[in-house]
Amino acid sequence: MSIRIGNSCVNCQSLTANEVCKVHAVKVSDNYTCDSFEMKASLKNDPNCSSCARFESSNCANPQKAAPGMLCSQWAPQNAQA
Ligand code: SF4
Ligand code: SF4
Repeated sequence: MSIRIGNSCVNCQSLTANEVCKVHAVKVSDNYTCDSFEMKASLKNDPNCSSCARFESSNCANPQKAAPGMLCSQWAPQNAQA
């Protein structure tokens, strides 16, 4: 199974402004994740190259084709922590 960089608490809709998880009621960080991860709706609704953490970086899977409005299976939300 590949390592996913987007499923961290920082991209989860259960993370509150003071970094407390609403599901577990403990302080978490962007290095954590769990089986209850739910991606923030704002991230889910606009997956394309311009919202991708890999855009214009050496990690982009399709650097020759990447452009705003395009999308590939390697999309990762911005603020993702590797
Ligand atoms: S611990 Fe799980 S449910 Fe809580 S914020 Fe992180 S990924 Fe979301
Ligand atoms: S081509 Fe894929 S990896 Fe590259 S920026 Fe677009 S969505 Fe991200």
